[in-house]
Amino acid sequence: MIDNPTRPPPLSVSSPIPPARPLPPGHPMPLPSQPHDPHVPPSHQTPQTQATSEATARVPDTANAPDTLDPLWQLPFELAWEALQAGSRPVGAVVVDRAGQVVAVGRNRSQESVAPPGQLAGTNIAHAEINALAQLPARGDTDGHRLYTTLEPCLLCSSALIHSHVRHVVYAAPDPVWRGIERVPGVGGLIADRWARREGPVEGPLAVFGALLMQMWEVLHNGGGVGSGVEGDAGRTVRRCLAIDGLLDAPTVHRAYILVRPHL
Ligand SMILES: [Zn+2]
Repeated sequence: MIDNPTRPPPLSVSSPIPPARPLPPGHPMPLPSQPHDPHVPPSHQTPQTQATSEATARVPDTANAPDTLDPLWQLPFELAWEALQAGSRPVGAVVVDRAGQVVAVGRNRSQESVAPPGQLAGTNIAHAEINALAQLPARGDTDGHRLYTTLEPCLLCSSALIHSHVRHVVYAAPDPVWRGIERVPGVGGLIADRWARREGPVEGPLAVFGALLMQMWEVLHNGGGVGSGVEGDAGRTVRRCLAIDGLLDAPTVHRAYILVRPHL
């Protein structure tokens, strides 16, 4: 096993925080350091456990480094963080092709008035996945495409996956609002034939972080009152995080993650 030169070094609480911004389409998405198993999301791949050579020893073992944000998820979460700071619901999505190259990115812009050409803003359907999938050309080759999103796709975005012919979606955090959506392809027909394989939530604190971002938005914009889903322990955790000095101004999602990680 050799080190993957495209994979960035792992971050830790002692690492300097790079000025990470979302990569534009065409840039490679960090890939796992071992061949991708299409049946296992990258964040679930078996981590390096045995250093058999100097090269192997340099392979980042982010799966066992809970204080870091997995580089595989950096871009989707960076987009989600941008959305939160812009006042929109914090969800980010990235489409990669079969080689792992980023071909489209999108984030929620429901509370904003401006979007890049071809994307939605200022409407309830300006979802991250919609804005990413809208950039794929009609009749384009989507064989092997995967969509990574920080939150479990809703019914709208699941339908957009069908229309976009993207057959594989990996999500970080579950969305209890859409509990039971896995039964939708049971209606059969085209929906069953084209329903994207759903993988998620990821294991560990990343899923909690994805959910926390949504809960933060709920408290910030709706108060997080009774029936909001941000009550009890969850509500206390969210408010404790929101009280962290400098959190909402964090310039990168890495910085934000490191700040809230002790509370996850
Ligand atoms: Zn959606």
